[in-house]
Amino acid sequence: MTVTTRFAPSPTGRLHVGNIRTALHNWLLARKAGGRFVLRIDDTDAERSREEYVEAIRADLAWLGLTPDIEYRQSERFALYDGAFEMLRAAGRVYPAYETAQELDLKRKIQLGRGLPPIYDRAALDLSDADRAAKEAAGIAPHWRFKLDHDAPITWDDGIRGSQKFDPAQLSDPVIRRADGSWLYMLPSAVDDIAMGVTNVLRGEDHVSNTAVQIQMFTALYAAQGKVQHLPRFAHEALLVGAEGKLSKRLGSLGCDAFRDQGLESLAITALLARIGTSQPVVAVSDKEELVEGFDLSTFGRAPARFDEAELHRLNAQIVHQMPFDAVRGLVPDGFTEDAWLTIRPNLEKASELVEWWQVVTGPVAQPAFDDETRAYLAEAAQVAAGGKIFAGDDPWHALTHTLKEATGRKGKALFLPLRQALTGMDHGPDMKQLLPLIGEEAARRRLERAQG
Ligand code: GLU
Repeated sequence: MTVTTRFAPSPTGRLHVGNIRTALHNWLLARKAGGRFVLRIDDTDAERSREEYVEAIRADLAWLGLTPDIEYRQSERFALYDGAFEMLRAAGRVYPAYETAQELDLKRKIQLGRGLPPIYDRAALDLSDADRAAKEAAGIAPHWRFKLDHDAPITWDDGIRGSQKFDPAQLSDPVIRRADGSWLYMLPSAVDDIAMGVTNVLRGEDHVSNTAVQIQMFTALYAAQGKVQHLPRFAHEALLVGAEGKLSKRLGSLGCDAFRDQGLESLAITALLARIGTSQPVVAVSDKEELVEGFDLSTFGRAPARFDEAELHRLNAQIVHQMPFDAVRGLVPDGFTEDAWLTIRPNLEKASELVEWWQVVTGPVAQPAFDDETRAYLAEAAQVAAGGKIFAGDDPWHALTHTLKEATGRKGKALFLPLRQALTGMDHGPDMKQLLPLIGEEAARRRLERAQG
């Protein structure tokens, strides 16, 4: 069977780092196995789902380079869910319940008050046909629950958490359909995982108890169709926390928009999210393929994955420092060459900063005010630079500074800094050896002359 993973966001908001990480891991798992990555838009909740979020999800995945092989939308698949529902109902695995939200709430409070777990008491199963008829005659439409089989524990070998075991009697029969006929998440997801041939379900550990319930749904659905069951391989990853070790509000809203606005590379985000929470080091990869090769669920730990924005920025800088010219071609101003890129790149934290450094090459540059002694020194530098010899060789910076050293006896900072300041308007920056040829003889001479005031 082709390895098939799925990312199943509900389009009720933008993707945030937590779900970007889930999407990435599912993409990596599929790519590593040469399989398929499915995007499933979980838009059964018509009231909360928004088309703009569907589009934003697609755009964010495209920006991250996590292109799905195929996309489905649950809102186009209701007929399939209806069919599954009827099958399960005929098999006695779905039952109507009539309690209001307030009644259920009260039941839970009473149970908790008695120190009992707030599990649904299955009172609806005791209703007679006449009771049900009376409710319906009184205009109360039922919602629907999936009846868990209490006979045997639910077990699975989790790809991250290892052997898992749940006592179904400790779980509430989940509501799968509301009184108005609309679907809750649980059943459509299981139906789709079967229909789409999903072989691996990889999601956050907040879904562990859903998995227990869904395993019974898979079993019931396969049985109702008289088919041999193929359960997906389940794996639940530890949740993401901020650098301070907590789930922060900021993380819950931090997404691709913010990353793009900050000028971060999508590769930095994927490189970080691929590795945090695993025993593998976070490294500045040059390609997502390196992440694909290294992806290994067995390296995932049980402790929360720490997402540190400062680490993201450091990683971004490292990635930029090794980015080939081709990767920035789309960003560069006219005249900007590969040499310029290689010279400037070690000074950048973000690729977009190349524009500011290019300004240093092309000018004009804002020089600081120099004292008299420095002005005299720079006047000498201007003369040396004008002699025609300095730029004749292949290392004008060495030629310039060497000549000035001999002539003035200056050395170290006193020799170099005024030149850098006059030539670039800055105290620091790219290696002058590489920068000076880019500035060129003409502009260098003019800047040194101008520095005399
Ligand atoms: N729509 C569900 C969610 O966003 C999908 C969970 C799953 O992966 O099954 O939580």
